[in-house]
Amino acid sequence: MASCIFCKIAEGEVESWIVYEDELVKAFFDINPASEGHTLIIPKKHYENIYEIPENVLERIIIVTKKLAIIYKKALDVKAVNILHASGKEAQQDVFHFHIHLVPRYKNDRLNLWYQSQPEVKANFGKILEKTRKFID
Ligand SMILES: [Zn+2]
Repeated sequence: MASCIFCKIAEGEVESWIVYEDELVKAFFDINPASEGHTLIIPKKHYENIYEIPENVLERIIIVTKKLAIIYKKALDVKAVNILHASGKEAQQDVFHFHIHLVPRYKNDRLNLWYQSQPEVKANFGKILEKTRKFID
């Protein structure tokens, strides 16, 4: 996509701090980092979200995410990571080219990347499962 910033990064038209690259995937430092080593892992081809990305590309992205988490553990003495993803506007997706955030966490880093639970949703578990089951193979 001509106007997509991540496509431009994937094609090298826009510079980035590349940490890993193969034929399917590119990983680079987030220009708005939440922590040291905050990395985005993207497919080189444009897929908007989880609904569009082919399984083989998604597998590679997850494998690369793990590979980088292990490298950061060794190289940066990272003890913990968050792996974040958003698919869709309602999920707060900001760039509409599939990406995973790998956010290294440090002791007392004061980040809070977690959610508030909504206990009232528990009342709907039965209904939700009923609607879902007919679509599970
Ligand atoms: Zn794109």
